[in-house]
Amino acid sequence: MKITSAEFVMSNSDVAKCPKNKLPEYAFIGRSNVGKSSLINMLMQRKSLAKTSGRPGKTQLINHFLINKNWYLVDLPGYGYARVSKSSKKTFQKFITNYFEKRQQLVLGFVLIDCRHEPQPIDLEFMEWMGQSQIPFSIIFTKADKLKPNALTRNLEVYTQKMLETWEEMPLYFVTSASNGDGRDELLGYINQINSD
Ligand code: GDP
Repeated sequence: MKITSAEFVMSNSDVAKCPKNKLPEYAFIGRSNVGKSSLINMLMQRKSLAKTSGRPGKTQLINHFLINKNWYLVDLPGYGYARVSKSSKKTFQKFITNYFEKRQQLVLGFVLIDCRHEPQPIDLEFMEWMGQSQIPFSIIFTKADKLKPNALTRNLEVYTQKMLETWEEMPLYFVTSASNGDGRDELLGYINQINSD
């Protein structure tokens, strides 16, 4: 897919205030620092469409970008657990679960995982929540340039084995690098294919 335009549309924390039209949208989510902003900028070939920042705890907003005037890329910053009152029950931030549960235009979520790390409980639990909520998603392993090919292959195998403890099959995944553009054609090609089905 050639990117001919990429425009910031709006930020808000309320799914009810997201764009009203019916264009298909794809949401990108992951832990803070996973490389989400860098990946979005790499996909769109823009230096700072999405704000890269080392600032943890930056305001958490649903950011809509209109791409090629016919689909939305949605940047959902850094998920984490929100503790419910005094109980120790862990749950994901409400605006994130609301977004995924209510947003009818959502086609697919992309869950970003740093390929260098061992499977982390919060990512596994988030994907389990997605599965239970019947929200389709694919995985994007980021920062692939940071590992040698053998180490990357090994980490992907470890991740797959871990996923197979709870999933019948490994969800579709992509391997990307914001530094060298790896995975860009595959990811945009995939979105393009779904959009044109
Ligand atoms: P976000 O918090 O998920 O939006 O993460 P950022 O995009 O701000 O990236 C966090 C840090 O990882 C920054 O220092 C980026 O330069 C670095 N980074 C992100 N993606 C890559 C990548 O693909 N390769 C390398 N080498 N560094 C990356």
